[in-house]
Amino acid sequence: MVDSSTHHGRTKIDSAVVWGDLVIGIYSAVIFYAYKYGNNILLQATLTDILIWLNGIKLITLYVEGPPKWLREGILFKLFIASNIFFIGLLGLISGIDPGTIYPFFLIIVFAGAYHFGLEHSWKAAGIVSLVYLAVSLSHRTSLLQDIAVHIGFIWIVLLIADVIFQKMKSSQKKLIEAMDSLNERTWELEIMQGENETIYTTLANLAGTLEEKELITKVLNISTKLLGAGTCKVFKASHAGNLMYLVGESDGIENKHYDKPEKFTVLDCLMMVDYEMEPRKKFDVNQLGVKALLGAESKAMFVPLGHRGTLLGCLVATSGKPHGFSESETFRFSALGLSAVMALENTQLMQKTEEMAIIDELTGMYNFRYFRDKLHTEINRAIRYKQDLSILMIDIDFFKKVNDTYGHQAGNMILQQLAGLVRRCIREVDISARYGGEEFVVILPETKTEHAIIVAERIRTEVEKTVFECGIEAPEVQITVSIGVAEFKTEYQRQPELLLEEADKNLYKAKKGGRNMVVTDNPELNSETELASSGDSNKNNNGS
Ligand code: GH3
Ligand code: MG
Ligand code: MG
Repeated sequence: MVDSSTHHGRTKIDSAVVWGDLVIGIYSAVIFYAYKYGNNILLQATLTDILIWLNGIKLITLYVEGPPKWLREGILFKLFIASNIFFIGLLGLISGIDPGTIYPFFLIIVFAGAYHFGLEHSWKAAGIVSLVYLAVSLSHRTSLLQDIAVHIGFIWIVLLIADVIFQKMKSSQKKLIEAMDSLNERTWELEIMQGENETIYTTLANLAGTLEEKELITKVLNISTKLLGAGTCKVFKASHAGNLMYLVGESDGIENKHYDKPEKFTVLDCLMMVDYEMEPRKKFDVNQLGVKALLGAESKAMFVPLGHRGTLLGCLVATSGKPHGFSESETFRFSALGLSAVMALENTQLMQKTEEMAIIDELTGMYNFRYFRDKLHTEINRAIRYKQDLSILMIDIDFFKKVNDTYGHQAGNMILQQLAGLVRRCIREVDISARYGGEEFVVILPETKTEHAIIVAERIRTEVEKTVFECGIEAPEVQITVSIGVAEFKTEYQRQPELLLEEADKNLYKAKKGGRNMVVTDNPELNSETELASSGDSNKNNNGS
């Protein structure tokens, strides 16, 4: 808008100068003939006056609006102005008019000169004007020398005063313009920042709602790419103790990478990555970090701890892609990203915990019955599909009520916890153990026949028999035994998988009936061996001591 109107104005001035000069030229010719052939002095004087005024107005317009493009450069413009002043003088000389007529123009010219060029150059304008005025006045019949001197002196005084005033005006104008400029710049910066902040706000808000860890890491990397220009960002997740950092994801400003087998670092390693001045051997206190981001040398790199309630959940290590490193606002925004990432990370970990809690038994850390039921279903289907064997064990502690009654419920709980660990140690990694309820445990043994299942069951039984359970100060050493029912999956269970459980339960009952501390299967040949093997020590242990 501003540009086009200025341009339009310039075109107007261009043609005004040309047309103005043309009119003045024609008019000058008219006057010339009026002088040569006419003898009406009043007419001649009036015509000359008008000509001078016309030329004067043209000069003023030029000063106010600035010179047109073709005149603007250097000497040409100065020549143009000087020649116009001389022209006014020449007309005055020819017509012999009263110098008072041209005097106001000369004052205006001196004003304009003082305003535009300052004292350094405007004295030249004043000089030219004075010379011209002198020439006109000297040719004028009635003028006195004294009168001329006063007028010229006045011109110079006006020049000096005008100059001082204009310099003052200009300097305050300059200051005002500078202030306006910096204000505009600041407004512009603020507008950019507001835009960026809005984007970051929405992305950060989006972070908080992320419940999956990998998705969260991707989002953190994406936001950091936006914040850092061509910089890099590494996301570390802390070990449980908080002293180790696992590199789980990184971005080089172009693409994101995720690591399923993360590399291990210490917190100090991460700090050294940002060139943070520390003694490498110094023992490092994680809590010392708080939530404050640490800038490396020349603000080129940054360490942002992801800490919450005194524990370090992870950290971000970023480098800036910009030549001057992190600006203050970038540092601030990156720290804000860290804070949001902490909260989001905590959310994902809570979510993970909740999911685990839904399938994990709180006391023993084993899978719960719900998970076991689903898993059994899957394993049965697999066994049917691939025609594989499948066995289960049902384990029950003997006379556990007595243990509770004697040593207390708390001691009982401790035994359950230790027994869970024992069972897990006795089985393979592919086997699935779960707490069936109370003091009963189940184990699914995929690809296992009764003959092999019984070996596992025996291993558990004898291991329990040998183990001294530690139950705190009041009951330092407690020994127990378990009875185990074994069942193998048969094709006739295909329609009713719960029959497998019933079979195991039935065998467990038989074991209890048969004297406890024994393993019972539905294969009598195998049982007899076990019963014989176990009957010897059962009496000794069954009292739960
Ligand atoms: P049996 O040899 O016939 O199995 O005798 P038992 O006393 O073990 O009888 P049962 O299997 O019916 O045992 C149930 C007892 O297990 C009742 C309860 O005192 C104990 N129990 C069940 N769940 C828990 C638990 O979570 N903690 C503790 N401390 N005891 C439990
Ligand atoms: Mg029981
Ligand atoms: Mg029992």
